[in-house]
Amino acid sequence: MAAFVGIDLGTTNSVVARRNAYGRPEVIANREGANITPSVIYFGVDPPAVGQEAKEWARLGDSEIASFFKPHMGSPLYQLEFKGQSYSAADLSAIVLRRLKEDAEAAMGEEVDRAVITVPAYFGDAQRKATIAAGEAAGLRVMRIINEPTAASLAYGLNRSADVDETVLIYDLGGGTFDVTVARITPEDVAVLATAGDHDLGGKNWDDRIATYFAEKFAEETGFDPLDDPVALNEVLVRSEQAKWTLSERTTARVTLQLGSERRTFEITRDEFEGMTAPLMDRTRRLTEEALGEAGLDWLRLDGVLLVGGSTRMPMVRSYVAHMAGKPPRTGVNVDEVVALGAAVQAATEAGETIGDALPKFTLGMTAAPPPARKVIDVMSHSLGVVAVSADGSEYVNDVVVRRNVPIPAEAVRTYMHETHGGMNTKLEVYLTQGESAAPLDCTILGKYAFHGIAATDAEVAVDVGLSYDADGVVQVHASQRDTGHRLEMSVEPVPDDLSWLAGPPRTAAEGSTGEKVRVMLLIDGSSSMMGEPLAEAQQAAREFLERCDFTSMEVGLISFATNVALMAPATNNVRRLHAAIHRLDAEGSTNLSDALELARGEMVADDARRYIVVLTDGYPDAAKSALEQAEAAKGQGIEIVAIGMGDADRDYLDSLASSEAASIFVQGGGELVRTFGHIARVIAEGGRSLRIMSR
Ligand code: AMP
Repeated sequence: MAAFVGIDLGTTNSVVARRNAYGRPEVIANREGANITPSVIYFGVDPPAVGQEAKEWARLGDSEIASFFKPHMGSPLYQLEFKGQSYSAADLSAIVLRRLKEDAEAAMGEEVDRAVITVPAYFGDAQRKATIAAGEAAGLRVMRIINEPTAASLAYGLNRSADVDETVLIYDLGGGTFDVTVARITPEDVAVLATAGDHDLGGKNWDDRIATYFAEKFAEETGFDPLDDPVALNEVLVRSEQAKWTLSERTTARVTLQLGSERRTFEITRDEFEGMTAPLMDRTRRLTEEALGEAGLDWLRLDGVLLVGGSTRMPMVRSYVAHMAGKPPRTGVNVDEVVALGAAVQAATEAGETIGDALPKFTLGMTAAPPPARKVIDVMSHSLGVVAVSADGSEYVNDVVVRRNVPIPAEAVRTYMHETHGGMNTKLEVYLTQGESAAPLDCTILGKYAFHGIAATDAEVAVDVGLSYDADGVVQVHASQRDTGHRLEMSVEPVPDDLSWLAGPPRTAAEGSTGEKVRVMLLIDGSSSMMGEPLAEAQQAAREFLERCDFTSMEVGLISFATNVALMAPATNNVRRLHAAIHRLDAEGSTNLSDALELARGEMVADDARRYIVVLTDGYPDAAKSALEQAEAAKGQGIEIVAIGMGDADRDYLDSLASSEAASIFVQGGGELVRTFGHIARVIAEGGRSLRIMSR
C-alpha cells in the first residue's frame, strides 16, 4: 500500500515528515539531504528548478524566480508569467508539492499518494480550496487541511503524559508571517481556543531594520547609497539576515559590505539590534494579548508557550516570552520542523493507524509507552455570514452566522425573510461573507449563491439559510423554505464587480449606477524612508483601494515618486496590470512630489470624468512650494486632491495640498492606512462630488 506524509507548505520553506516504525514523527530529508526545501522555483531551466538550487539563482539576481507565492493562494488576481505560460499561486504550490512528493518517495522507497497539508490559521475559504487543489494537481490526495499552530501543538503534545490537561500559547514567527494561537491539550484532543496574527510581519522586517541601518552608515561614509541600487540593496539584505543570525548566538556581529568599488566593515550589537526592532516586538505583543483576551485568559493562566518558526530563535523573542509568562518557553522540538511533524501525526490519525499498528512486533522490552493518538479540533479565524438588509430596512449589514474561533466542523442556521413581490420573485440571492465587521464591504465576499423555486404563499416567506465550515475549513451553503420544508435548489453565480451599492441604502427599485466615468491617480511616495515596512503597508493599502473600486465606471493609475517620478500604470480598469504595478513599487531617494503632480495632471487632461489625485507621503517634499503650485493648478482643472500622510509627513502641508480639510488625513499605523484607502475608494466610487471622509 502506498504511504502518506505530513507537509508544512511554507511561505519561505517547506518540510515533509512521516511517522516512523516506532510511531514517532520524523522529518524526511530531500534529495540534497536537507530537512528544509525552500519554497522557490526557477523557470530559467527545463524542467524548472525547485528548492535550494532555485534560491541560488534568485541570489544571483535572476528574474525568472517564483517565491513568496503562498500568501496569494486562491487570489484570481495573482498570475505570474514564465516562458509564455501563466501560473497562479496554486499552480506554483503544486510544483513545490510535486517535488516534495518525489523526494519523499525516493527517501522512503515507496509511493506517496496522500498527505495532510498545513495552512496558516488566517487562511480563508478560497485559500484552503486552492491548497487542496494544489495537492491534487501534484498527485496527492489531501487527507485533511489543518492549521499550522494546531499541527505544532500536536507535535509538542507527543512528549506529554496521558493525563495531560494544559492550555498553551503557540507563538509562530516565521520569515514573513506572525501567528499566535491559544490551544487546550487534553488526552482526547487539541482544541484551538483563539487565534490572531499579521501575515505581513516576520523575520524579513527584522532584516529590513538592520539593512536600513547599514545602508545609512555606508552612504554616510562613501556617498554611495545602497538603497538607490537594487543589486547593492540585495547584497545588504543578504548580509543583514546573516548578521541577524549571528546576533542569535553572540552579542556582536560584524559585517563587511563590498558594494561597487567601496568596501566597509561595520559592527552591530545585540542591544542596538533589539532597540531598533522594538516596535516589531511590540506588534507581536499586541497580537498575543489579543489572542489571550479572545480566549479569556492571561499569561499567568497559561501552562506553557510553544515556539514555532525560524525567527523565534532570536533571544529577544525568548526573553519576552519568559518575562511575560514567568517561565521560559518549552523546548525540545526544532522550531523549523515542528509543523511538519504535527502534520505527520495527524496524517497517521486520518489513515486510521493506531500506534500499535505502527509498532514492529519485535519491540518487546521497549520502556517508553507509545504516545496516545490524538484527534484535532481546529477553529477558523474568520466569522462566516451573509449580507442582509437590517431589521429597520435602512442599510445592508454583514450578519454573522458561524462565529469565528468556534471548533470546526461547525454549522449554524439562521432564518431570514424573503420578499416575494406577490409571487414574482422566486429567486433568493445570498452573498456569503467572511469577516467581523458589520459593514459588508469590510468583509471578504466569498461568493454569490442563488436559490431557486421559492413557493410564494405570502408577500414574505421565511427562509432558513445554513452555513458550515467542514473539517478542512471549507465553506458549504444551503437553504430551505420554512413553511414547505423544501430544500431550495442552488446555483453559484459570479460575484459582480460592482458591489458599491452595498454601502448605500438597500435598493427599492432598479437604481443602477449613474454611468458617470471616474478617474483616479494614486501617487505613492517611494523615497528611501518608505523602505521596508512603510512601503509594504502602502502596497497593501493600494491593493485594498483596488478591492473597493468599481471598475465598470472607474479607471485607476499609479505613479511612484522619489528622486525620479515613474508612471507605473496609466489610468486603466485592468486590475491585473494595476496589481503588477503595485508589486513593482520600490523605495529609493528623495521626494519629488512636484513632478509627480504634474505627471498626474498630464494623465487626466481634458476628459469628462470625475477626477481625483490621491497622494500618500511620509515626509516633506523636496520642492514643497512648486508641489503646492502643481496642486493648485490641478484643483483649478477640477481635480480633487486627497492627501494622506504617515510617518514624518507634515500635517499643515497635507492640509494645503488637499482639496478640503476632510480630504487631508494623517494615519498612524498600517492597519489604519489600509482602512483609510478602502474608505476613500468607497467614497469615490459612491460618487459624491465632494469627498466626505468620516474616519480621521
Ligand atoms: P520560517 O518561515 O519558519 O522558515 O522562518 C524563516 C525566518 O527565520 C527567516 O526570517 C530567517 O532569517 C529566520 N531565522 C532562521 N534562523 C534564525 C536564527 N538563528 N536567528 C534569527 N532568525 C532566524
